[in-house]
Amino acid sequence: MTHSVTQQLTLALSKGRIFEETLPLLQAAGITVNEDPETSRKLILGTNDPSVRVIIIRASDVPTYVQYGAADFGVAGKDVLLEHGGEGLYQPIDLNIAKCRMSVAAPADFDYLTAVRQGARLRIATKYLLTAREHFAAKGVHVDLIKLYGSMELAPLVGLSDAIVDLVSTGSTLRANNLVEVEHIMDISSRLVVNQAALKLKRERLQPILDAFERASQRISA
Ligand code: ATP
Ligand code: MG
Repeated sequence: MTHSVTQQLTLALSKGRIFEETLPLLQAAGITVNEDPETSRKLILGTNDPSVRVIIIRASDVPTYVQYGAADFGVAGKDVLLEHGGEGLYQPIDLNIAKCRMSVAAPADFDYLTAVRQGARLRIATKYLLTAREHFAAKGVHVDLIKLYGSMELAPLVGLSDAIVDLVSTGSTLRANNLVEVEHIMDISSRLVVNQAALKLKRERLQPILDAFERASQRISA
């Protein structure tokens, strides 16, 4: 009983920008994914390392899989982590990928700042209830929050809300819908999250990967 069995590692990623932007970090750790989730329908992808697999899930589900240990580690946006709460997750590294900002946006013809100054009660549509609630509470602005799951930009255009809280990168979606960014809430980037038990039990296996991710993400942000 002296030899140790190679520990299996499961990495949780979402399709799209997080998958794409995590690939170079994996590369830095010597890991290449065998399939492209955009063309494969598989939800479990193998890698060049038989002991490492990647699962493909919704961005907002990544913290949950890692929290319960169904994945040992994962990559999730700060937006998603704030809504999840971070329970059971160790968050060692800001990967500096999938960067954007969380902002308040309103129709160009809505005088948001005056409404706020006058103490108006605002209707805000968003997917980010906790973050939005905290933001407006800290400013002493009274809001009714309306939970949406996507296409927040539509809400003020059809009278569902006065403004939205959403992620912005280039601003082109806002512009296309005649919305203006009226308040910057916070900068967003994606973080590595690790299951706390896995970090202890699989440290030997995980640490070199975490180190490679950290070095590579510092190069990205430099
Ligand atoms: P879903 O598409 O499953 O409804 P989602 O829109 O949150 O969820 P993605 O679009 O893949 O999923 O975004 C994943 C993460 O990438 C977000 O949680 C956020 O951290 C970041 N992100 C989202 N939008 C942008 C953006 N416009 N620019 C840069 N990063 C973004
Ligand atoms: Mg999306």
